[in-house]
Order: sequence, then C-alpha cells, then structure tokens
Amino acid sequence: MDNRILVNDKYFVPYITHDKIMTRVDELAAEVRTEFDGKRPLFLGILNGVFMFAADFIKAVNIDCEISFVKLTSYAGMETTGAITSRIGLEIDIKDRHVILMDDIVDSGITLHHLYHELLKENPASLNILTLLMKPDALQKPLDVTYVGFDIPNKFVIGYGLDYDQSGRYRKDIYQLDEQA
Ligand code: 5GP
Repeated sequence: MDNRILVNDKYFVPYITHDKIMTRVDELAAEVRTEFDGKRPLFLGILNGVFMFAADFIKAVNIDCEISFVKLTSYAGMETTGAITSRIGLEIDIKDRHVILMDDIVDSGITLHHLYHELLKENPASLNILTLLMKPDALQKPLDVTYVGFDIPNKFVIGYGLDYDQSGRYRKDIYQLDEQA
C-alpha cells in the first residue's frame, strides 16, 4: 500500500504516529512536573514549529507556569542556513526564573546554542532545553539538551507543527522525507 504523502514537490512517509507522540509527551511532562512543580517555571517556546507540541505539552504538564514564545529563524526550505535572522518577543525579565526552552526539533543546534547563551547572561535560576525531536548526528554546536522526546536520524521531517516551505504543519503525525522517491 502506498501511504506516502505529497507535500509541495516531495514525498514523505509516515514516521511517528500521533499516538506515539502523545505517549512520549505524557512521559516528558511527568519528568518536568516532578522537577518544576511549585517553581512556577517559564516555558519559552520557539516559534513557529513548536506550537503544536507546546500546546499538548503544557496541557500534559498541568502545573502553575508561565508561557511565552520567541521567534527566530535560521531555516529556509530543507537546509539550515545557520543565520539567526530575527528574535521577536521575550520582554519578560528572566532573572531568577526557572526557564525551559521548548523547541520542536534540534538539528544543527545553532539556533538554540545562540539563544541559550544570550539567556544565560540574564541570570535565570535555571535554564533547560526541552525538544520533541533531536538529530544527534546533525549537531554542530555543543548543547546540553535535558529533555528529548525522540532521537531521530539526520533526515528531514514534517508534520505536528513542522513544515516544508510552510506546508504540512497541520498534520498530526510526523512524516519523514522519502529518499526513494
Ligand atoms: P538548528 O538551528 O538546530 O539547525 O535548526 C532548528 C530549526 O530548524 C528547528 O526549530 C526547525 O524549525 C528547523 N528544522 C530543523 N530540522 C528540521 C526538519 O527535519 N524538518 C523541519 N520541518 N524543520 C527542521
């Protein structure tokens, strides 16, 4: 059976089902709850890709917290450009706050490495990184990622908030680029 999907000009194959994502979200949320319940953490999501994960995660973690988002872009099409082109948001004073950076996927790590070190200068009480997906083989910068949903190979993925040239974000499962196509 051909269960591939066509997104713009590329085929993708089913990779992680929504059920598996939700099971993992619950496990991660339980870990974070144990660590941060009573500390009123600030979850800082990195837009746009994180919006779906952030919504599910925040509901699952279910503790008193603050939620905000920043926007930074270093990606165009399927190649990381490495350039941080913008940072919109984050007017919150993070001094002495427990900050948890939430990302959809860590690829080269360039984007997060940069933001992580900028935020450290503002003296948060703690600074942790939470990502749904991580491509360990693609990492180009040292990055201490505390909470990882799934380690995945260095292949392009879409769905559950992740896009291919702005398409495919709405899908609730995650799909991987079909390299046979
Ligand atoms: P990094 O700075 O770690 O290379 O890039 C991270 C950002 O690039 C992610 O937040 C995401 O927006 C985008 N990205 C990296 N890998 C992928 C991928 O496989 N699929 C999609 N759709 N976006 C990706």
